[in-house]
Amino acid sequence: MRFWGLGVPDYASDYESSNINGEIETELRLPSVDCEVCMMTSGYAGLRSVPFECPEMLRSEMSSNGDRRSALREEHFDLQRRLFEEAGVQGRPFTDIRPGYRFPPLYFDVPSRPRADFLWPFGGLLVSTRIRILLMDLCQEDLATFPVILRKVGGRDAKFPAPIPRTGEPEDIIKESPLLADPSGVGPYYEVIPRHQSKEHRIIELQCDACGWVKTKVVQTEKWNWRMNEDYWQGHSIFYWGGTLHVVVTENVKDALQAARPSNVEFIEM
Ligand SMILES: [Zn+2]
Repeated sequence: MRFWGLGVPDYASDYESSNINGEIETELRLPSVDCEVCMMTSGYAGLRSVPFECPEMLRSEMSSNGDRRSALREEHFDLQRRLFEEAGVQGRPFTDIRPGYRFPPLYFDVPSRPRADFLWPFGGLLVSTRIRILLMDLCQEDLATFPVILRKVGGRDAKFPAPIPRTGEPEDIIKESPLLADPSGVGPYYEVIPRHQSKEHRIIELQCDACGWVKTKVVQTEKWNWRMNEDYWQGHSIFYWGGTLHVVVTENVKDALQAARPSNVEFIEM
């Protein structure tokens, strides 16, 4: 059995990456948790998405980006239970959903007109319609996809050299880019949300049974350190690599994707 990580290509600069891949923002996310067992507040860095939309009734209880709310563990447990119930989804609090997870849809801002099949805004994976169709055919049970809302879209093509903004900060490119008055002709793009992860491969130094907070010894982020032992596999065709944000696919999925010659992605053998 072989596994392949979906990877971000190398760019000439951070400007080029920002110019092509843009940024995402979310309106609704689960609060972080104040856990009285481990005494930690965790969930701020939860960059994964819940694979379903927030039920109308619970929207007011989910914190927005600007207002990072936290909840006590009991309160959080109750909130998550109500979330599963309202959404009509089976799930285990603090296992299938974690504090800080965001809800679709995402807002997407990008300084250049997006044309690639894969886009890699920080914390998210977006794909074009044709890649979404392929993934839905191959991995229907194992992932959810949601259209992103194209909010600010630049009019220039990404193939030209990335502009360098006056501030020098890659995320400011969009402030100085000419935007399309009407982005409705662009895309659509879809957020890819794997529903499962492989077993944990990282070295866990500490873990709280009550809230799931973990302290890992080494987080391996270098591409050449990607290792997916078959023992970690839980039988899914697309999944997160343990507790990380890296997305992994099985060989048949990789072959089908590669046959479509997708742009702006690398397949990394694990
Ligand atoms: Zn805890």
